[in-house]
Amino acid sequence: MERFTGSFTQQEPIPEAGIEAAMAVLRHGRLHRYNVAPGEVAETALLEEEFAAYVGAKYCLALASGGAAMACALRALEVQPGEPVLSNAFTLAPVPGAIASIGARPVFVEVTEDLTLDHGHLESQAEATGARVLLLSHMRGHVCDMDALMALCNRLGLRVIEDCAHTMGARWKGVPSGRHGAIGCYSTQTYKHMNSGEGGFLVTDDAEIAARAVLLSGSYMLYARHRAAPAPEVFEGLKLDVPNVSSRMDNLRAAILRPQIGMLDDRRARWRILYQGMEAGLSGVPGLRLIPRPQAEDYMGSSFQFLLPGWEPARVAAFVAGAAARGVELKWFGAAEPLGFTSRYAHWRYAAPVTLPQTDQVLAGLIDMRLPLTFVPDDVPVIARIIAEEVGKAAGAEALLPVATPVVE
Ligand SMILES: *Cc1c(COP(=O)(O)O)cnc(C)c1O
Repeated sequence: MERFTGSFTQQEPIPEAGIEAAMAVLRHGRLHRYNVAPGEVAETALLEEEFAAYVGAKYCLALASGGAAMACALRALEVQPGEPVLSNAFTLAPVPGAIASIGARPVFVEVTEDLTLDHGHLESQAEATGARVLLLSHMRGHVCDMDALMALCNRLGLRVIEDCAHTMGARWKGVPSGRHGAIGCYSTQTYKHMNSGEGGFLVTDDAEIAARAVLLSGSYMLYARHRAAPAPEVFEGLKLDVPNVSSRMDNLRAAILRPQIGMLDDRRARWRILYQGMEAGLSGVPGLRLIPRPQAEDYMGSSFQFLLPGWEPARVAAFVAGAAARGVELKWFGAAEPLGFTSRYAHWRYAAPVTLPQTDQVLAGLIDMRLPLTFVPDDVPVIARIIAEEVGKAAGAEALLPVATPVVE
């Protein structure tokens, strides 16, 4: 039996230019972003300027994590304790966590079979709660129709914060992800598209939001040392009113990240080859549904999802175990207990309990895998063959079924 021996969690090394720049920071010792020699511009300030240029934003702030960026964005929009904040029911734990961290109330919105936000449910939840902010998560890189969404949010008076943890480097009709809403947030955590261990960004074109965010991040009175921030006058009226919630990026991580911005477009092309190879290898497998990708979406294929619609939990579990035994590491979002990164909305008990039948049905059969760039294109057919065979085996394993429902799709 064929086995896969690659690692689903092994990312590429830091580029040599990043290692050298990091060594220079270590040698001079000025790791804090505001610790600069006369005439020196901090790596962090340069990183912000370069990332702002990459996504075409006026302002950019680098932060300690993607989660910190989202919490900072919510605070910069002056979300109050107890205030409802709308977000996708299918996302990762740091998203509702950011809402809860400022004492606000996550309100979950159903997702569709295409793994994107259900616009009809968004509208009814917005109306039912009176929410004024949507923290939109482009979970696993799947982007909803952004033109339709922004038109709807404008009509509903919703400000949009985009969680672009899985869409850094992606575009919708040519517009970089994170540039549709009032604020875009990104993560530079190891498993995302640029790697500094931990880290994040916030981008916006709004001067007041940007100034609030800089002050929130813990700029003391040193905000003039930023380059991708508004002019000092904008800070004048705010600097005594906005609290310091220390969550800065440091020069070491900024040095590691700067050379990676210019690699994002190449990474998108390389990921696309792996992703499309998976699509080709799994298309037509009975019982398995691929997620369609809209033409307008220029996505980063850093992970791959498919659905096993209508499968009984025992059969999904048997399939995941069968693939794992052959070296293919799959995540199942429908498992009763959260494992690794795969918690779902019902597991976030600090939020008000809700039942979202549509999302439950989608997640019950949702399988997720990473496609790290340490995989080569020849790895993909091996992985796809193993998945297809194990799907076939599990689909045929009548004994596991309480009722013998044939799975056809
Ligand atoms: C990783 C991730 C984040 C941010 O994560 P950090 O670990 O805080 O950088 C946000 N949203 C999603 C969907 C993520 O996967």
